[in-house]
Amino acid sequence: MNIAEELRKRAADIKIIDSPEEKEMYSHDIGDVPALMTKTLFEIQPDLVVQPKNVDEIKKVLIFATEKKIPVIPRGAASWGFGGVIPTKGGIVVDLSPFREILFLNKPQKSVTVQAGARWGDIDIVAKKEGLCLMTYPSSKFSTVGGWLATGGYGINSFRYGHLTEQIISMSVVLPSGELRKITPNDPEFEYFVGTEGEFGIIVEVNLKLRDVPEASYPHLFYFPTDKAAFAFMQAFLEKDQAAETRPNA
Ligand SMILES: Cc1cc2nc3c(=O)[nH]c(=O)nc-3n(C[C@H](O)[C@H](O)[C@H](O)COP(=O)(O)OP(=O)(O)OC[C@H]3O[C@@H](n4cnc5c(N)ncnc54)[C@H](O)[C@@H]3O)c2cc1C
Repeated sequence: MNIAEELRKRAADIKIIDSPEEKEMYSHDIGDVPALMTKTLFEIQPDLVVQPKNVDEIKKVLIFATEKKIPVIPRGAASWGFGGVIPTKGGIVVDLSPFREILFLNKPQKSVTVQAGARWGDIDIVAKKEGLCLMTYPSSKFSTVGGWLATGGYGINSFRYGHLTEQIISMSVVLPSGELRKITPNDPEFEYFVGTEGEFGIIVEVNLKLRDVPEASYPHLFYFPTDKAAFAFMQAFLEKDQAAETRPNA
């Protein structure tokens, strides 16, 4: 019995992609890996891809993979470009791109709960209908909440609102054992799931802070003759704590 058949026995309803043509899409991200590397170093097709519809299916996949010692590769919008979603040793790609619901927007509390595959751009559109918006913006608005948390975390407005982790109220993760755990930034294990590329588990749900849409926004463009001059300006700006004082939108 192959892996797909075995997994179907455990999770009959889960969407499994196992045809070579479809799996090909999962052998790369937006980055360009030289052919020499892919041919010599990587097994670049996953054994199979799953597109879970709910947390229960994600739990079943992780329990199965841990039991069988099969690598698991969480995948969001594949925009990271550093190969984190490439199945270098085969295994099961957990494609979270369809796992993207915006579950609940709490207007009085200025917060939103989303599935990990929710796109930043979609959350912003939904929030703006309620007079709210994201605290900070990633470079790729089409990327997923789980993907940005698992990789970067600084973006537009970070000087004012800080790293993405400062906007997390809580998040739920599924551990390799299949255990679902809700954690907050105060929990010691919180840091295991930030910037760690899914190594300790899969982020499945996130409760994020929002803010009021500013009355106006004033982008400024500064020109510097050299990169040194630009960095020196930013250094002085930060040391004087002007980033905190500059609050045209507060
Ligand atoms: C070194 C580096 C630093 C970066 N820093 C920033 C930054 O500070 N600001 C910025 O705007 N952009 C940054 N980027 C770009 C940013 O990572 C991507 O544009 C995007 O946010 C990633 O989201 P994605 O949904 O495309 O993730 P993907 O490319 O699909 O996945 C990225 C990684 O996260 C893992 N992952 C994906 N979803 C989950 C999940 N739900 N649970 C656990 N793991 C998961 C994947 O396995 C993979 O390792 C950085 C890129 C690089 C290479």
